[in-house]
Amino acid sequence: MRNRPTQLAGALGAEEGKLLACVHCGLCLEACPTYVQTGDENDGPRGRLYLMRAVEEGRLGVESRSFTRHIERCLGCRACESVCPSGVEYGQLLEAARADIAAAGRGRGFTSRALRFALRHVWLHPARLRLAFRLARLLRDSRLPRLLLRAKLKGLLPARVEFALALLDSSSAASLSDETVGRFSEAKGGVSVEGADITSTAAASNASTSEEIGRSTETKESAALLFQGCVTEGLFARVNRATARVLEAQGCRTRAPRGQVCCGALHAHAGDLEGARRLARRNIEAFEDAGAAPVVTNAGGCGAMLASYAQLLARDEAFAARARAFSPRVRDVSQQLADVGIREGARLDRLTATYDASCHLLHGQKARVEPLRVLSTIRGLSLAPLEGSDVCCGGAGVYNLVEPELSSRVLEEKLRHVRETGAQILATGNPGCHMQIGAGARLAGMKLRVAHPVELLDESYRRAGFYRNDE
Ligand code: SF4
Ligand code: SF4
Repeated sequence: MRNRPTQLAGALGAEEGKLLACVHCGLCLEACPTYVQTGDENDGPRGRLYLMRAVEEGRLGVESRSFTRHIERCLGCRACESVCPSGVEYGQLLEAARADIAAAGRGRGFTSRALRFALRHVWLHPARLRLAFRLARLLRDSRLPRLLLRAKLKGLLPARVEFALALLDSSSAASLSDETVGRFSEAKGGVSVEGADITSTAAASNASTSEEIGRSTETKESAALLFQGCVTEGLFARVNRATARVLEAQGCRTRAPRGQVCCGALHAHAGDLEGARRLARRNIEAFEDAGAAPVVTNAGGCGAMLASYAQLLARDEAFAARARAFSPRVRDVSQQLADVGIREGARLDRLTATYDASCHLLHGQKARVEPLRVLSTIRGLSLAPLEGSDVCCGGAGVYNLVEPELSSRVLEEKLRHVRETGAQILATGNPGCHMQIGAGARLAGMKLRVAHPVELLDESYRRAGFYRNDE
């Protein structure tokens, strides 16, 4: 009889056909950043799937180092899913494998255990999480992280601490070169979305100004419910405000339902599927109460997680049907904009931007062209193609802190390609990618602004005078 660990066996029970569907063709290998870096078959999707099968069939222990090591070195980027001809749903199997590793008490040591503690005792409690982010903002806005980084304490600060400071600093609105800070300062008079009906205070469109400034595409009247996200609202509230203003400018009434919580992605990736389910149930309730409009996110990681609730709660009698109704409502802000139409704003200063795709936005939500369409609407911004735009940056949630060595190798490759573009701005649709690339650029001394595409569109709208509150 097979010695099946509970969670993995559970996933295989539901998705066993997908796991067995792997025909070992190897087409996924070159798409896998960890395989490309190490050249080790077990650091690629095919090898990891083989290890999962070995555990599922009782030929390998879940606590064995060969299993835990290679499963934990996976970025969870899901690039392998996009190229797999057999439709192996790798991401779901990875989460189940990690749940078994966590249940067996195995992990990456102190950092991993500290993360699990924080996920359980902070992230599952909204008041504590708000306090944690408030403290993080206080530290960031004190500019102490920047001063410490500028003091070049290399060798005195542990590399992991230095990178953590750079991550925090890169979430700041002013984390770009001095020349571009002036040009792209955050819009004043932003709208408040925290638990509020945005429509009452949001910016209003100004058709006559739009006609003077340039072409405007046709827009449809619509509505959206904004999913704010814990990291986005905690460290990038400006992106949530910009998202609301930009949607409103297209005639899309936008509000952020009360009662929403973290999406649960960090829990799922760390193997805490029960924690992820708890959060998923609360989000479903919050958005059910708010009506039937699309659930719009501006973070690729959150969007892919919200879209996976149907699978996450498939065996929950009370929530399975509700989750199946919820997941198809989820869309990225770029997909919503592509659907409702994007007006053209004012010309920005002549700058070159490049775009890096968030893995979960690309491979989870399948938003490949929509973010580029948002950027191409912004006049004055020239877009330089980024080689390897569809390859992970090495951020992957907290992978950069728990697997710093492999993460930095993946990041170096990304920064090399960014340098080749000569761009002053890198646009990306996920806070984790934003901080990872921003931190890497900062530590490498690059002059680079990292921004969400809607921040740039918002800036062009503000210049066009679309926002009454900004006058
Ligand atoms: S591409 Fe799909 S079928 Fe081929 S080895 Fe990779 S996971 Fe298996
Ligand atoms: S999720 Fe990413 S890192 Fe993991 S096996 Fe697939 S391609 Fe490789």
